[in-house]
Amino acid sequence: KSEWHRQRTYTVRDADPAGGTITIDLVTHGSGLAGPWARNARPGDLVQLVGPGGAYSPDPDADWHLLAGDDAAIPAISVALSRISPDRKTFVILEVEDEADQADLESASGLSTPAGQPIIWLHRKGDEHTAQPRILEAIKPLDLPDGRGHAFVHGEAGMVREVRRHLVNERGMDVLDLSATGYWKFRRTEEGWREDKPEWKRLAEEDLA
Ligand SMILES: Cc1cc2nc3c(=O)[nH]c(=O)nc-3n(C[C@H](O)[C@H](O)[C@H](O)COP(=O)(O)OP(=O)(O)OC[C@H]3O[C@@H](n4cnc5c(N)ncnc54)[C@H](O)[C@@H]3O)c2cc1C
Repeated sequence: KSEWHRQRTYTVRDADPAGGTITIDLVTHGSGLAGPWARNARPGDLVQLVGPGGAYSPDPDADWHLLAGDDAAIPAISVALSRISPDRKTFVILEVEDEADQADLESASGLSTPAGQPIIWLHRKGDEHTAQPRILEAIKPLDLPDGRGHAFVHGEAGMVREVRRHLVNERGMDVLDLSATGYWKFRRTEEGWREDKPEWKRLAEEDLA
């Protein structure tokens, strides 16, 4: 088993079939396999791809949208934003390390909101991911409109669980109108997070009981 290839999961942010290229944004955090690999990647390096998987798309019939996540979810959020009609109220909450990371993302192509609605940016500034879910605290005061919302909440698993609980139990959202799972888990590798996921799902269901 130690000889097997190790696998990591990423979002295809863009694809150009004619040019034969895809665009993937990797968070270059300090440890692990893919983060450090991306930091040192050079043209000509080889990776083996498996996929694609996943089927989320913003519901065109929803009255409003909420998209929230940390750096790992920003590629998926930027794809989702491009599919939302400009006449839909859309709340966007993105957590990154600091103003410099925000500026990088703002200047990169592909991150635009329907009808230019504002993005709420949150900065960790060295605080650990799970210390206090900043994304939850940013969602709590939002004046969510009447009608049916569709929410996409991804990123660190502990944060996602807290936000999921809040949106269903305190804001009355239907769990079926939520796409909300952890993309990664604080202090766990992807292999470890995969092992923990069944228990995370069990606890997340219990949260709603
Ligand atoms: C459907 C899906 C789509 C995803 N899309 C993207 C994407 O487009 N871009 C992207 O960067 N990630 C994305 N992720 C998350 C990515 O798969 C994980 O972050 C993965 O753990 C990264 O592997 P690694 O080898 O860098 O770190 P690992 O070896 O898995 O973990 C090593 C250490 O780094 C920590 N760590 C892992 N990820 C992060 C992070 N983002 N920030 C801070 N610390 C971290 C772990 O807690 C652990 O302590 C996605 C995940 C899923 C499930």
